[in-house]
Amino acid sequence: MINFNQPHLTGKEAHYMYEAVFAGKLSGNGKFTKACQAWFEQRYGFRKCLLTTSGTDALEMCAMLCNLRPGDEVIVPSYTFVSTALAFLREGAKVVFADSMTRNPNIDAETLESLVTPRTKVIVPVHYAGVACDMDAIMTVAKKHDLLVVEDAAQAIDSYYKGRPLGSIGHLAAFSFHETKNITAGGEGGLLVVNDERFVRRAEIIWEKGTNRAEFFRGEVNKYGWVDMGSSFLPSEVNAAFLWAQVENIDDIQAKRKLLWNTYWELLQPLAQQGRFSLPDIPEYATNNAHMFYLVLPDLDQRTALIKYLKDNGICAVFHYLSLHSSEYYRSRHDGRSLPQCDRYADCLVRLPLFYDLSVDSVKQICETISTYYQ
Ligand SMILES: *Cc1c(COP(=O)(O)O)cnc(C)c1O
Repeated sequence: MINFNQPHLTGKEAHYMYEAVFAGKLSGNGKFTKACQAWFEQRYGFRKCLLTTSGTDALEMCAMLCNLRPGDEVIVPSYTFVSTALAFLREGAKVVFADSMTRNPNIDAETLESLVTPRTKVIVPVHYAGVACDMDAIMTVAKKHDLLVVEDAAQAIDSYYKGRPLGSIGHLAAFSFHETKNITAGGEGGLLVVNDERFVRRAEIIWEKGTNRAEFFRGEVNKYGWVDMGSSFLPSEVNAAFLWAQVENIDDIQAKRKLLWNTYWELLQPLAQQGRFSLPDIPEYATNNAHMFYLVLPDLDQRTALIKYLKDNGICAVFHYLSLHSSEYYRSRHDGRSLPQCDRYADCLVRLPLFYDLSVDSVKQICETISTYYQ
């Protein structure tokens, strides 16, 4: 069986975790946490980075920093992971779901402005498959209406929009280091990015359970206490140590993933040209971080049949999100607008295996199996 995903070990994870364990300081914000944060700040030019225990937590911190009031509206794509919407709903906001583009599952920036009302406070673009949303168009709408932009960059590490790293464009951004993402903090982990100076101090306080502990340790105040809302968002040093082994090898990881992605792309081109399915769309303004390789089939029945054929032939391919606006939890709260592109991706998109330890030969075998299916 070819798995859909397998976490990759670069080789030094256990070594750094051992070091963290025997350094005698296991709680958060130690040597490895600081090293990871500084690395992300330097490599991608992020103003301030804070490691979190998950991407969901990083989104929750973003939502807290937005300082929402009941009735405030937040625009979120419907074709995304639950956490993108949930983080803002927990803060009492009304989530207004947006449709995807026809060309790819990212939020449709052209129709975005029609969703803006006097209550709108935040737009949350999700860089699906690590491919950039049209950030210039989104930032223009945000600027015009004085809105905050929170990038859900959970899948988008080491990916760019017109030469700018994803996660560096919005006021705030969230990354995930879950084991299904390009790099992992040992299964679960995340990163909050603060680009807007106004949020830096409060982000540290929220991160440290509502206390100004970080300022105390820097010697900026002579005692620390409870000053604001917050929670325990810091990961253990053991997780940060695992992540450090992965960031050290990010270029190697990205190179291998791109090799596999490009192999799929070339070998599946003929079937795409016959109109059997469409391949991932990378707009001219975006780079590809090879987070995901997906096909979009003409309809649900054809997708179900392909997934079954692949499974019968030892290949695990999987569909992805169900539209959040029609989920059990949200459908009675949704305003009733139909979001046809979200529904199309929910029915027709299938993801193929893509992970570091997959071989090029396995990708060739998967492509041959797909070709045989269509003969
Ligand atoms: C993975 C993911 C998340 C959640 O990240 P966790 O680390 O699993 O909490 C949020 N949004 C998107 C788009 C994701 O892909």
